[in-house]
Amino acid sequence: MIKLSARLLLLVWLLAAPTAIFRTVHSGTDTTAPLYDLVVTNALVVDGSGNPWFRADVAVKDGRIAKIGRVNISQAKRTIDAKGQILAPGFIDVHTHVESIFSLPTAENFVRMGVTSLVTGNCGSSATDVGEFLGRIQSKPISVNLATLIAHGSVRRKVVGLDDRAPTADEQKQMETIVERAMQDGAVGLSTGLIYTPGTYAKTEEIVDLARVAARYGGLYATHMRNEGEKVADAIRESIQIGEQAGLPVEISHFKISSKKLWGQSPMTLGLVRDARARGLTVTVDQYAYTASSTSLESRLPSWLRSGGLEEAKKRLADNATREKVVVEMKDSLKRGGFKDFDFAVVASYSADRTFNGKSIAEITKLVKKKDDVTSQIDQIIDMYVAGGAGMVYHGMGEDDVKRIMQEPFTMIASDSGVHQNDDSVPHPRGYGNNARVLGHYVRELKLIALEDAVRKMTSLPAQTFGFQDRGLIREGFAADLVIFDENTINDRATYDKPHQFPVGISFVIVNGGVVLADNQVTEARPGVALRGPGYQIVGAS
Ligand SMILES: [Zn+2]
Repeated sequence: MIKLSARLLLLVWLLAAPTAIFRTVHSGTDTTAPLYDLVVTNALVVDGSGNPWFRADVAVKDGRIAKIGRVNISQAKRTIDAKGQILAPGFIDVHTHVESIFSLPTAENFVRMGVTSLVTGNCGSSATDVGEFLGRIQSKPISVNLATLIAHGSVRRKVVGLDDRAPTADEQKQMETIVERAMQDGAVGLSTGLIYTPGTYAKTEEIVDLARVAARYGGLYATHMRNEGEKVADAIRESIQIGEQAGLPVEISHFKISSKKLWGQSPMTLGLVRDARARGLTVTVDQYAYTASSTSLESRLPSWLRSGGLEEAKKRLADNATREKVVVEMKDSLKRGGFKDFDFAVVASYSADRTFNGKSIAEITKLVKKKDDVTSQIDQIIDMYVAGGAGMVYHGMGEDDVKRIMQEPFTMIASDSGVHQNDDSVPHPRGYGNNARVLGHYVRELKLIALEDAVRKMTSLPAQTFGFQDRGLIREGFAADLVIFDENTINDRATYDKPHQFPVGISFVIVNGGVVLADNQVTEARPGVALRGPGYQIVGAS
């Protein structure tokens, strides 16, 4: 042990050496300079491994954890007294949609949840020029670390458009070239969104061939599956098949059961993942801690209608027989999901009429059409789709399944959120409360999982899965991404009605040694860096 930590210290010293030497040579008076930039004292360290907490001070130097144990605070430039609260690795949120982070660089809704690293580009939607995207951090510094996937939907849209057809051989090649370039630029893997336009038009083989490219560069396959309701088992099988054929790990995004008829079937769906793992396949899942999901309104409409995009769909809907067919299919799918009407579907943001925000489709239909039958509700959905679409919150999951999925060792906690600011939208509360809700509600109040296990699901498991080799644990030599929270008071405050509310109980958040949340206030620090996948290093080294 002593030998190991001595080696790590040497490594840290070597990394810091150029600066140290510079100081010694030019100032000549640095012998009394503080040894550490920052020391967190009096902490209960939950180190991310799942092991029980222990008492220690943690010292930070040049953005890295330099010492764990007893530290003399006179050796530190800055000291934070944790006052017996929990010190954990900063949370890694592997399922986000933060392509717009550069317009909200503090990412306050994430930082306030204790999140220090984000993986974006999920669900088939990403920047297609990953080098340019991650490179923006240089000119537009952000508060958190950022990684991205290269998304199949965005690549397909660029090459094939929004049409419901297979790519030609040449188009498939072009898509593979874009994915290859993205992996070389540091994407951490390939994502799909197989309910969205145009991802939904892809056959399994098309995805396997693209996933092979990601596999060559050490990436993973993250998927918003083709179905999370009645055909969820088939969709899990397809995801596993893609990983097996392409030879790369599979991450099933926002693992859930959204058909009321299948509530309670999570032992079966988790069993499919366990079986795959028993065969030696790396399959993991992530989850947000709520019984409602959130996505677009258009995902409710049949995929054939959406072929070619909104303008094409509008033309089709002008034909009464086609519109009637849409209504019949939507009614059928509602029934198969076990829902009697669209009361479970609530508007998060509808730009054509913001007074709809926060109201359910059933309520809106009553207001607009003075009707409460399902056909009128579907008409209302079609009207809103034609008027530009809406972001939605769907109350479609069972609490027992949420709990069972959370207890599974291979489940990570991830928000599926974007960057938010307080406005008149009514987004899903997960973007403000997810991590705090797990630690307050599920850990402390329900005792569903242990604190240390919950932290593991937010730190070392995501780091291991996405290849962030020097993050997710409190270890000497690791990046100093840290969070301090009070296990006795931490809680989410964001609700479905009033989501724009930060959690309580999280006081300090540190990213690469930079304090981004101090005493519950966001600071001016922007210490976030790009987290690039192994493909980048392979090319970078040549
Ligand atoms: Zn998704």
